[in-house]
Amino acid sequence: MSSWFHSIRWRVQAWHGLILLGAIIPFCLTAYHFAWDHQLRRIDRDLQGSERRLIRALLMASGAESPRRGPGPSPEELAQKLRERKITLPADIIALFESTAYYSFREADGTILLQSSNAPADLELLPLPPEGFTEDFRSIGSRRESRRASAQGFSSLVGRDITEERAEMHRLGWVLAACGGAVWLLGLGGGWWLGGRAIKPIATISRTASRIAEGNLTERIDTEGNDSELDQLSRVLNQTFDRLHAAFERQKQFTADASHELRTPVTILLSETERIMKRDRTPEEYRDVIRTCHETAERMARLIEALLMLTRQQATGAAQTRESVDLAPLLQDAVQQLQPLASTRQIRFETNLSPARCRGEALALAAVATNLIGNAIAHHHAARSAAWVQVSSGTADGKVFFRVQDNGPGIGADDLPRIFDRFYRVDKARTGSSGHTGLGLAIARTIVENHGGTIAVQSVPGEGSTFTVQLPAAS
Ligand code: ADP
Repeated sequence: MSSWFHSIRWRVQAWHGLILLGAIIPFCLTAYHFAWDHQLRRIDRDLQGSERRLIRALLMASGAESPRRGPGPSPEELAQKLRERKITLPADIIALFESTAYYSFREADGTILLQSSNAPADLELLPLPPEGFTEDFRSIGSRRESRRASAQGFSSLVGRDITEERAEMHRLGWVLAACGGAVWLLGLGGGWWLGGRAIKPIATISRTASRIAEGNLTERIDTEGNDSELDQLSRVLNQTFDRLHAAFERQKQFTADASHELRTPVTILLSETERIMKRDRTPEEYRDVIRTCHETAERMARLIEALLMLTRQQATGAAQTRESVDLAPLLQDAVQQLQPLASTRQIRFETNLSPARCRGEALALAAVATNLIGNAIAHHHAARSAAWVQVSSGTADGKVFFRVQDNGPGIGADDLPRIFDRFYRVDKARTGSSGHTGLGLAIARTIVENHGGTIAVQSVPGEGSTFTVQLPAAS
């Protein structure tokens, strides 16, 4: 029962019913009132007509000359005639009037001058006015009466039974009530149907959302294609579900990838330690195994650190603390830091660094620079003569950029779209002690996107690669 009151459909229906009642009842009452008013005015006109005809008949019976057309004799005239002589109306006139109406003419003291035989005993004539003439119409029980009185001491009353009219009004009342009730029920039915139609998409949304909550993340709410509020809501929810699904899939993939990547070093650690423990070894053999284990542990540490960094960057999103950062000194530092590595690989650095000020997190942007320059060195041909890596920065089109270009091996067209994916390495064999986690570019892209920028790569196999990072300039 209480769930009924919580249901929007029922509440709308209840309000709708009340409002409809609020409109139908006054309408029926007004219609009834007007009809009754109209009926009374008709009866009053009827009474006035009967009264005039009666007076003319009286005057004729009293021997007065043929009554004039127009307003007829005054009450005083008539009273005078009634007092002067006893007037007896012809039987047919009496029958005619008494079948439809009753009448009474009286003196001021209540003496009956003339009265129909069917006149009710409880007749109440109009009190005499102090001067002039007064008249009214009144309903008493099932009778309607027209009463007149003059200051000269004469009062008259013509009335008739209105049971028939009352019954008619009674019938009209029932008809109005029936029509009003029918309109109300029709309105309720229409309202219920409309309410159902309006609420149906909500039920669909709710059902689909439940299925999605149960784990069916590919489900989507059917949109009708119109621009109704509920359609807009469905679209927004679908977009939210899309994003949630993508995030969930990323998370799943991430966990799978991370486990997969960690499994290899753990396997190496276990197999090496198990192997060495099977029997006594020479110190040289122990040293070798410890070195292998140390390198493997280092790799795991790097991997875990990279994973943490990626997760942190994905979690912080765009809402990081922003400071004004000039990319030129930041790139210069990265170059200096990597100079020893470049030297051992006989790679020459070329720098062309112009100020490029943006707003961002200096440490994160430094990590991007180190990663790109480090990649350019690390993935360069082992002993290519005249190997170089060029690092440049500047501003263009209201944006700041930095570029890392090398004349290394380049990246094949098939690999190019995937190098920003997590754990993607072009050379699958280059893992292990070489320190390649396959996460560097994924981290770089996340950081750049968190800063509202883009990272792009152009590469020609055999000729080299160019990585360009663009960021919004500091205003
Ligand atoms: P990692 O360097 O740890 O392998 P990255 O995400 O940094 O992972 O790079 C992904 C892959 O892209 C690398 O394994 C490498 O094959 C390729 N790559 C990145 N930078 C370069 C470059 N400058 N020249 C050639 N290949 C590159």
